[in-house]
Amino acid sequence: PASGGGGSRKSASIEGIKDIIAVASGKGGVGKSTTAVNLAVALAKTCKLKVGLLDADVYGPSIPTLMKLEGKPEVNEDMKMIPMKNHDVWCMSIGFLIGKDAPVVWRGPMGVAWGELDILVIDMPPGTGDTQLTISQRLRLSGALIVSTPQDIALIDARRGANMFRKVQIPYFCALADSGLIENMSCFKCPHCREKTYIFGHGGARKTAEEMGMEFLGEIPLEVEIRSSSDEGSPIVVSAPSSEAAEAYNEIAQRV
Ligand code: ADP
Repeated sequence: PASGGGGSRKSASIEGIKDIIAVASGKGGVGKSTTAVNLAVALAKTCKLKVGLLDADVYGPSIPTLMKLEGKPEVNEDMKMIPMKNHDVWCMSIGFLIGKDAPVVWRGPMGVAWGELDILVIDMPPGTGDTQLTISQRLRLSGALIVSTPQDIALIDARRGANMFRKVQIPYFCALADSGLIENMSCFKCPHCREKTYIFGHGGARKTAEEMGMEFLGEIPLEVEIRSSSDEGSPIVVSAPSSEAAEAYNEIAQRV
């Protein structure tokens, strides 16, 4: 963990926050938000850190559902929004602000009264467009975690030479102190016999991470409980803390 001593971390650009990590992905639907949530909760509960979670996924904010939070955040005397807490994590989501009432001006992560945090986890918008570039460049990130499925890895690999990816390499892979890759849905885990099937092959993500000079942080299986607990707003690290998936998230949190 960042605050656990050791390691030379860049200071964050938001006052009171020691480290900021972005959870990113090449495309949508690969489990980026699920990973961000489970990681944030694992950092809080297992690593005993003070954790914030910022849902910057403007295209489909899912943190309110995944963290079972609703309503509009209150505003303090400095006109900053007060994050809402569940599962020991302070959360702010653009989803809290989209409603039928008067629109609230979103001033980004700076407009949030985070207080003192050991780590802020940002659930980035999917993909590699300008919004992602801006967030990565404006905030002093300590690291980025890229979530990918095995097929997505193949896609990234195939496009390695492409201009778009080169552009993304600047903030995601080169300018950061640390970056790591998580393979989500790495294998199918049968809910009946628990046997694992590597539908898309095995070992590709680790190999790609190595080739890109990124740390391979771990594999999360495709498991029905991950989806069902997410839908209920109770991340698997909370609903089934001794499950293999929860253990994998906890292990990743300890390496972040
Ligand atoms: P993204 O943020 O990349 O768009 P989500 O985290 O919203 O993706 O995940 C997309 C869907 O896949 C959700 O329904 C989620 O519950 C499910 N999901 C994500 N990871 C897993 C997994 N390892 N096993 C089972 N379902 C998963």
